[in-house]
Amino acid sequence: MGIKAGREAGAWPLRTPTRRQAARMKMRRPRLTSSVALQLIFLSGLQGAMWTYSGPEGQDHWPEHYPYCGGTFQSPIDIKSELMRFDPTLRPIQVQNYNLAPGEQLTLGNNGHSIQISLPHTMHISSLPHRYTAAQLHFHWGSRGRAAGSEHVVNSRQSAAEMHVVHFNSDRYPNVSTAVDKSDGLAVLGVLIEVGEFNPTFEHFLKFINGIKYMGQRVQIPGFNVRALLPARLDEYYRYDGSLTTPPCYPSVLWTVFRDRVTVSHQQFLALATALYASSAQDSAPLPLNNNYRRLQLPDSRTVLVSFKEDELPWSDSGLLVSVLVGSAVGLALIVSLVCCLVRRKRSSTEQDKSNGVGFSVGDRDEYGSRV
Ligand SMILES: [Zn+2]
Repeated sequence: MGIKAGREAGAWPLRTPTRRQAARMKMRRPRLTSSVALQLIFLSGLQGAMWTYSGPEGQDHWPEHYPYCGGTFQSPIDIKSELMRFDPTLRPIQVQNYNLAPGEQLTLGNNGHSIQISLPHTMHISSLPHRYTAAQLHFHWGSRGRAAGSEHVVNSRQSAAEMHVVHFNSDRYPNVSTAVDKSDGLAVLGVLIEVGEFNPTFEHFLKFINGIKYMGQRVQIPGFNVRALLPARLDEYYRYDGSLTTPPCYPSVLWTVFRDRVTVSHQQFLALATALYASSAQDSAPLPLNNNYRRLQLPDSRTVLVSFKEDELPWSDSGLLVSVLVGSAVGLALIVSLVCCLVRRKRSSTEQDKSNGVGFSVGDRDEYGSRV
């Protein structure tokens, strides 16, 4: 089955593709299915840091070895109000078997680009047109003194960090490495993370972080409730078609970025930002692992579907502006009515003075009225 057939058969019933997206689907299929060489690059990329976020192997140079990184429909993007469109058909995200027993061992590793936790294939998303089975989760973050390292930003507001829970389309593909370059291959849940209240769930893996300080290190950790890493509300989110945010940047990701943010304490953020190295333990010049986020990519005529109503959009900056404008208008109305009231009273007392001057009493309404 071709991807075009899959799309027509309802692979993406949650939204109608634009003409350009449809063209991309047709175009992408032959290139992606024949990209065995790119898959090999991807797999070797998993085994070591062949690219970096800055420097000679940094983002500017990714397209030289990974052509998709210089292509269209890339991630992350700035999720701006003008790109958003409310879609009432977007159902709440439902995740299954996310509450892992402590007896279930997970691998926590440092791959030189991030820290990553392997996830069992029992975990999946059940609310999308296909079953998307969990593969791994990982993080992107800023640095000490700069708590701004999320990849997605909402109306230009960057969060301190971001978690990605990567799932693959297990209805169509046997594993994540087969699905990674297919246009309906991956679904990633993005969670924006702010510095604020202490997050006890993060301790389930942060307490092991000193065991994976260097690239290539990994430890086994007990299972925990992964659902608790997600925000409380799974019904409010942004949805768009995008890509892996690391080489080889395949445009194969159905993105769900939740509206609600989660928090970690300043100490917990610092653990991510300062405890890890992108270099191996043997390296004589340790390279800190921080600021591991990709810069914003062009929207390329994409629409971001929004699962919640427009009047509830969290436009923090414009929301503040609206509050100030409404407050100012109310204040101005009060001042105007106060001034009117004072003028009226002043005029009234002047006319009363005049009336008193010609012999009418204040209470003599009939006579006063009859004069007019
Ligand atoms: Zn990521």
